[in-house]
Amino acid sequence: MQQLLDDIAVRARPLAVEGKVADYIPALARVPADRFALAVRMADGSEHATGDTDMAFSIQSISKLFTLAMAMEWIGDELWERVGREPSGMRFNSLIQLETERGIPRNPFINAGAIVVTDAILARRPMLESSFRTTMRLLAGTERPQYDEEVHRSETETGDLNRAIAYVLKAYGNLREDPMVVTRAYFRACSMAMSARELARAATFLMTPDHDGPFVRGDHAPRLRALMRLCGLYDQSGEFAYRVGLPGKSGVGGGILVVQPGRYTACAWSPPLDRFGNSVAATAALELLAAELG
Ligand code: GLN
Repeated sequence: MQQLLDDIAVRARPLAVEGKVADYIPALARVPADRFALAVRMADGSEHATGDTDMAFSIQSISKLFTLAMAMEWIGDELWERVGREPSGMRFNSLIQLETERGIPRNPFINAGAIVVTDAILARRPMLESSFRTTMRLLAGTERPQYDEEVHRSETETGDLNRAIAYVLKAYGNLREDPMVVTRAYFRACSMAMSARELARAATFLMTPDHDGPFVRGDHAPRLRALMRLCGLYDQSGEFAYRVGLPGKSGVGGGILVVQPGRYTACAWSPPLDRFGNSVAATAALELLAAELG
């Protein structure tokens, strides 16, 4: 297994030159472009990793997977009156679709959808900031996960498009809290910093049906995987399904998390992104991994 992961790193890592590190959140641009990690956690609990696997990076939209899991657990089906379950076919931060569809986001993994999910959780758990951190620490099995203050500040300063999305949601009656409060909480979750190894571990609940972890009921896992498969990589979800074939969730920090039910979870990280906002080398690494492991 170690040999396999090392070989994948040798082949996938150089492809990072084809991408570009996200700089619309200025603090993300300071991350060295040549970082690379690939971590795999098998169903028996064994872990295998290569590269910068213990280096924490900004999980960004991978957080949407975990906030959705929290919302499904805490809110239940009424969540789906406010957000859809269809692929968007648009950029993750598109405002156009939200306007034409009168404030109902297509799915929980685009920014508009995640902002609604955040709003729904805030109504039940106003202390989302601390409960999200606690949840991620429990899932990762370590106290290490923490918010990156610089990334949070940087996104708060530059996040006008997300604030615009929140105000459109509010105007259509699909946001209860103040848009400034909701986007602040949304930016907070996006600024969580974790390593590839920690993320692979945190996703175990999506792989193992009898998982008895902190918060996720077993019957939510197949539904979360369905949404990951259809919407997890935005308007590249079809391409990712074709190439990698596993439910996944990406973030503009360069991480991609995948799960093969009953067998393994894996997280790849390389900061340079393609034009859809997904990591070039992480996609390639997961394609090679899935081809080998099934
Ligand atoms: N925080 C980022 C944003 O809202 C998350 C986007 C992403 O990772 N795709 O723009």
